[in-house]
Amino acid sequence: MKFAFKKLFQILPLFFNTAASNSDHNKLAQHIINLNQQNSIKGIINEMAVCLKEILNYRLFAFVIQRNLGVDVWLDPRMYKKSLELVFIQDFHLSGESEINYLNHTFNSNEQEYQFDLENLVSYILDEENCHGKIYMLTKKNMASYHDNIVAMILKSTAIALSKQINIDILTSAAAIDPLTGCYNRREFEEQMRKTIASAKRHKNKLSVFMFDIDHFKKVNDTYGHQAGDVVLQRVSDVVRNDMRTGDILARYGGEEFIAILPSTGKQEAIELAERLRDKIEEQIIVTDAGTIKVTASFGIASLEPSYERPDSADMLKLIEEADSMMYKAKLNGRNTVMPGLIQLCQQPTKNTGTV
Ligand code: GH3
Ligand code: MG
Ligand code: MG
Repeated sequence: MKFAFKKLFQILPLFFNTAASNSDHNKLAQHIINLNQQNSIKGIINEMAVCLKEILNYRLFAFVIQRNLGVDVWLDPRMYKKSLELVFIQDFHLSGESEINYLNHTFNSNEQEYQFDLENLVSYILDEENCHGKIYMLTKKNMASYHDNIVAMILKSTAIALSKQINIDILTSAAAIDPLTGCYNRREFEEQMRKTIASAKRHKNKLSVFMFDIDHFKKVNDTYGHQAGDVVLQRVSDVVRNDMRTGDILARYGGEEFIAILPSTGKQEAIELAERLRDKIEEQIIVTDAGTIKVTASFGIASLEPSYERPDSADMLKLIEEADSMMYKAKLNGRNTVMPGLIQLCQQPTKNTGTV
């Protein structure tokens, strides 16, 4: 009898352990299926975090992916941010917290921070083709021996899914970008424009666009050659892009013609921005192998009023047509000029100081 009890006590934990292990492996299988159905990096990491939460019930989970510049971080919960940043900076040789981009949070400076004992932090390395990173965890329950196995499996599946998604993202972004200037191409501009108009209407926000075209650009090509002309296009687009806000979108609309979407921007602000950019372009001394070149550009502006109630495609065409016709008027008015949209047509052009 005593022997039988002893045997039972030896077998019971094994039985429960096996039952728990089976249940955890079933959860893991379901999450791996879900993981492979995700079509964004955030979605994949989120699925992985949910899986580990269900199985390990962690107190802290952070996923860090190495990027060209800095790292992307998914963090749950957010209150250990400060302590963890020191770990990320050390592990990924970062110059500071400015190189950390959070995928699932934005933080306020007054948020409460908690400390934790670094000794309890476990980490796993993730290394797959184009996806290098690390996950960090503070776990609640004692990890059973099979948990290591589970973590290894979810990590491998996540790495493969992420690697595939990163490749898809690279291809998609290559299809959206003009290779010469690094601006969005016309197809992507239209896609972004549709989304921005829909959002502006939903939230009753302002929205402006400006179009600009380099003046007498044919003469630049004829005088200095096509390659020098390419350098001018790169420089002008860099100057403009560097002076725009993060949410603004600059696209190359045609040869030497560009268009920008300015979300939450009214007509007056758009005029001020275009005027500043026109000035900056005029100031540039562009050094090329064929000599130094100076150019100017003509701008046309159009704005969407918050009260607009027409279908999106009509809005988009109307805005582009208006910006285009304003730009044409700027050309007629002597170039190197900003022309505001129709409502303010009675205003004089803001400046006209000559051409190339
Ligand atoms: P305007 O002031 O009226 O705009 O005159 P423009 O000379 O700038 O305009 P036009 O349309 O006559 O000439 C545009 C030139 O831009 C002609 C074309 O060869 C050149 N171009 C278009 N795409 C590129 C490019 O990718 N690289 C270079 N170097 N030139 C380009
Ligand atoms: Mg031109
Ligand atoms: Mg043109």
